[in-house]
Formats: sequence, C-alpha cells, structure tokens
Amino acid sequence: MLEALKVEVCEQNHELPNNGLVVGSGGNVSGRDPATGLVVIKPSGVKFAKLTPDTMVVVDLDGTIIEGSMKPSVDTGIHLYIYRHRPDVFGITHTHSPYATSFAARGERIPAVLTPITHMLGRDVPCAPYATPGEVETGKAVVEAAAGGMAALVQAHGVFTMGKSATEATSVAMYLEEAAMTTHIAMLRGPVTEMPAAEIERCYHWFRKNYGQSGNKKVNA
Ligand SMILES: [Zn+2]
Repeated sequence: MLEALKVEVCEQNHELPNNGLVVGSGGNVSGRDPATGLVVIKPSGVKFAKLTPDTMVVVDLDGTIIEGSMKPSVDTGIHLYIYRHRPDVFGITHTHSPYATSFAARGERIPAVLTPITHMLGRDVPCAPYATPGEVETGKAVVEAAAGGMAALVQAHGVFTMGKSATEATSVAMYLEEAAMTTHIAMLRGPVTEMPAAEIERCYHWFRKNYGQSGNKKVNA
C-alpha cells in the first residue's frame, strides 16, 4: 500500500545524509497520505544506506502499525502529534543538522536575516523550550513554537521542519541549515540586522507566486 509515498519518503530520508544533515541513523522523514490520512515513516535505528521503500513503516494517526515488518522511528509519536494538530502538514523532517542545532543548543531562535529562508518560511526560525526527546511533549513544543509556520528548533535537541509533502519538508530542512550556517558566520563578525517584517511578508508571497515551474511565467525585467 501507499507505494508512491513510500518511495518519496525513502528518497527524502536518503537526502538527509546526502546533504550532511544527519549522522548514523539519527533524523527522520515522514509523509502523510492525503486520501487515507495514513503516515509513512522511517524504521527505527536503521542506517540510511539500508533504507528501501519496502522498509518504510505505515502507521495511523494513533500509532497503530498498519504495514511494515520493522518498528517505526522512535520519534513517530512526535510526528503523529504534529499531524494531528496541523491538518495543513503532509510531510515532516527531523534532523540534528549542526549549525541549526547550535542555535537550539543555546535555546536561541535563528533570526530572519537571509531571504533564501525567509522566502520559504515568512519569518524567523523559533526555538521551543526543552522537551523530552521521543515523547509527545516534543510534538507539542514544535506545534506551539511554530505557531502555524513550517519550522521550529527544540532547545537542546534539533530541527523540525514541515511541508505540504515529505519533499517540501526536507527542502526546508536543507535551506534552514544553510541559512543557520551563514547566519552563524555573519554573527561571528558582529550583530546582524533582521529584515523588516513587512518586507519578509512581501517576499514570502512573491516567492510563492513566482518560484518553480508552476508559478507565474512572466519575467520581471
Ligand atoms: Zn532527534
């Protein structure tokens, strides 16, 4: 069942080590099927190189295993909490990517200073207070800190990104890490200036209208 979603979720899990966002078997990606509401997620403790679509686990929103021979990710409860409370979310990516997580280590948000990430998020990256890893309270912390947005750090832990698909959530995780690295480097040389809220808002909507092949084809020249 859900073969196409298993392929997508497996591919997006492979993107994590391929982009330096995780080490070992840490981190995970899931996707929710819009038709059935079922969630496909990475199995627990399996090295990324060993992941194939067949190893993905299908669960319902209560955590009952619907299909799969392996145990789902230890973070499944976090993913399911987010899906239950965010009907607009169909993909979740969790990493401990180093630059973004260095902000989480300090309990700090990532300020909105770079357009490549503010285009995607429309705001800064908030940091939720510490919550026990692997427990539903981490899901609650993410939902509260994100406040309808598509990303949040969790203090002393790492990064959670969301999207309309597993692919979109993983893309946000990649751009978020790049922005965290560049912001960190900039902050080493002194204070940074956040973009004005109105300009962040304007760029966010412009990006959604114009970016990609489905957007507006007219060139602003
Ligand atoms: Zn984690």
